Amino acid sequence: MQTIADRLTNARQEIEHAIANAHRPAHCVRLLAVSKTKPVSDITAAYEAGQRQFGENYIQEGVSKIEQLKTLTDIEWHMIGPIQSNKTKLVAEHFDWVQSVDRLKIARRLNEQRPAHMPPLNVCIQLNVEQEATKSGIVPDELADIVDAITAMPNLRLRGLMAIPAANVGETQQRETLSRLQTLYEQLQAKVDGIDTLSVGMSNDMTLAIAHGSTMVRIGTAIFGARG
Ligand SMILES: *Cc1c(COP(=O)(O)O)cnc(C)c1O
Repeated sequence: MQTIADRLTNARQEIEHAIANAHRPAHCVRLLAVSKTKPVSDITAAYEAGQRQFGENYIQEGVSKIEQLKTLTDIEWHMIGPIQSNKTKLVAEHFDWVQSVDRLKIARRLNEQRPAHMPPLNVCIQLNVEQEATKSGIVPDELADIVDAITAMPNLRLRGLMAIPAANVGETQQRETLSRLQTLYEQLQAKVDGIDTLSVGMSNDMTLAIAHGSTMVRIGTAIFGARG
């Protein structure tokens, strides 16, 4: 049976392979291990195998794990799930990154609630490039305004964009969505200092996402196994 360490090795190899195929520099894509619903012991196993960046979707569950693992001070905790505005304080007080900033109100509250003794909270704007009504996220027309607002917030540090493109579409549509994202990312990089994260790509679309400039892929099941 494969261990978490084995599966991490495979995921990292797959990422480097996709990077090489895309003629991009080695190690230019970070791996976020998505540990939602998985026990703390699984996170420790991944940590012992060298993994440092973990993603959680549910605020209470994530905060509980962060507290249980607070002796592992070099873990970087990423919030990647939807955030209700009455839960922003918990997020601001515990996470290192929030990738799922999908409206200005959330950004404002995170900025106000980030404790003064902590470094600025790293954030990504979650984009909905396909403009699906059922999906959360900022649509491209709204991007410039929220970028201007966030870059003026002292306790947030804008790092880039995050997206969850539709999974059950053909490759042509996947490529179209990914290249729109890549263009918006490059425009943001040209406009704002310190933009270094295009968080896109999961197990099913990782290779294509890396071919379209992704700098961070988010992988859960392939590392920790199916969620119950
Ligand atoms: C759950 C989740 C992932 C990981 O999904 P897997 O299918 O388990 O690899 C990545 N990104 C987000 C936003 C998620 O919610």
